[in-house]
Amino acid sequence: MNPLAASREAPLRLDTLRSPSAFLAQHLGAPPEAAALGDYEAWFAAEGQAVSDAVDRARTPWLRMHDPKGRRVDEILYPPEYWSMLRRGYRAGVIWRAFEQQSLAPAYRLIYLTSFYDPGLSCPYTVSLATALPLEKYGDAALKQRFLPPLLRRDDSVWQGATWMTEIKGGSDLGSNVETVARPAGEHWLLTGDKYFASNAGADLAVVAARPESAPQNVRGLALFLLPRQRADGALNYTIRRLKDKIATRSVPTGEVELRDSQAFLLGPAEQGIYLILEVLNVSRVANSMGSVGVAQRALADAVQFAGQRVAFGKPVLEHPLLRRQVEERARDLEAALALAWEAVELLDEVWRERPPYSERYHLFRLVAHLAKYWTAEFAAQTGKWCMEVHGGLGTLEEYRVERWLRESMILAIWEGTAHRQILDGLEVMERKRAHKLLFQHLAPYAAADEARELEARVEAHLKLSAEEREAAAEPLFRALAGFSARALARKRAG
Ligand SMILES: Cc1cc2nc3c(=O)[nH]c(=O)nc-3n(C[C@H](O)[C@H](O)[C@H](O)COP(=O)(O)OP(=O)(O)OC[C@H]3O[C@@H](n4cnc5c(N)ncnc54)[C@H](O)[C@@H]3O)c2cc1C
Repeated sequence: MNPLAASREAPLRLDTLRSPSAFLAQHLGAPPEAAALGDYEAWFAAEGQAVSDAVDRARTPWLRMHDPKGRRVDEILYPPEYWSMLRRGYRAGVIWRAFEQQSLAPAYRLIYLTSFYDPGLSCPYTVSLATALPLEKYGDAALKQRFLPPLLRRDDSVWQGATWMTEIKGGSDLGSNVETVARPAGEHWLLTGDKYFASNAGADLAVVAARPESAPQNVRGLALFLLPRQRADGALNYTIRRLKDKIATRSVPTGEVELRDSQAFLLGPAEQGIYLILEVLNVSRVANSMGSVGVAQRALADAVQFAGQRVAFGKPVLEHPLLRRQVEERARDLEAALALAWEAVELLDEVWRERPPYSERYHLFRLVAHLAKYWTAEFAAQTGKWCMEVHGGLGTLEEYRVERWLRESMILAIWEGTAHRQILDGLEVMERKRAHKLLFQHLAPYAAADEARELEARVEAHLKLSAEEREAAAEPLFRALAGFSARALARKRAG
């Protein structure tokens, strides 16, 4: 069947909007772990959502820094229900299934479901995955034997991971701004420095960017280290200076973390550290893309439900032609956003074991991941705003959940690299690796040939601009490329 024709004919369904697992199954097919997803979703709908709401409303958890004897303990005090909610996802398999099923797909499906109910809660799962994968890939046998099994546990003793790169001078330009220093000390290294935005503070293990003492003061001087929370003697290996008061993602504690001669283990060759750091970021960017679509689905589902019962001018507002058309267009864009995010998942699943120098497939993945992170996060924020408007004045009140989806999506647009970062890194992979060629080939079966030709010519012309203008004018081009890719991939899914 011609996929272009198929997508035009595919009827729009709004009935799956209220169920993230049904929406995924409708567009991606039934997954092997369908029963587990069903149980997870049923629990969230019945109990978890109320816990999540309470955690959001309670704002920043309390950091208990000392025990009665004055020793540093740095315990994060959420209510007990929070820990039950958090452990649900680990038990459902957000980490262990990736290893058991030899595929990242189940992890990303669970992250999607989580984000529908609580986008912030997806963060601990994402960073735990982004800790387990480089450990599996780059850790030596002894390191893996010691640290991997606790991350893969299926019970409540499971360990959590974290990914700490950003320091006080800024996260976009890690090459200049990472000042954490690493000194070799026998079998391990000693790290000293401060991490300024450290999500999942309190994690049992973290992957951390640091600069070996004699390494250059640029991006090539960075290396990736595995850092446990406790030293071999049980003492704290890092301390938490404070927790951040955030507008959203309150289901993950984000703190400032102090490293003082903290024991850590080098992952991979130090001189390839920046590649490893970017691999870690890629795992999170793909998760961010799925999470953005998940929260956009939720906001849209809430808006449709509200508009179906709110009456103005004699009928439900949903039945007025202007609003109805807007809902339909946004629902189509939601399908396209999912298709783009899922393409990033599938490509990552293919290439994540690659090491530098990477294949062309990897460069294609990188471009798709930048497009997906950029476009889905923008879509989530715009959808959050629009869904708030659909609720009218009620949408601005904290007692209606939609204001939360807007707050959550604003963070999704910033962490894991802002839109600027995605655009400029996407531009770089097109300039240096000609990744747009790979993208147009990849999408050819699902895209209108004349539209693809026109856009490819536009990209080529753009790459010939002066360096200054290439950056300055990049956003409209990148937006067009992302929209084009998303629509083509939606046709692929519909076919
Ligand atoms: C809630 C939360 C949790 C976080 N958790 C973590 C974590 O666990 N681990 C971690 O490592 N980091 C974490 N971060 C940090 C996050 O990754 C950074 O906020 C992000 O990378 C941007 O860095 P920055 O905030 O320092 O902004 P900056 O790098 O200071 O940038 C400021 C602005 O300038 C723009 N800009 C920068 N360079 C350019 C350029 N060349 N062209 C155009 N514009 C540019 C940026 O896009 C941004 O808009 C977290 C952030 C938040 C908000």
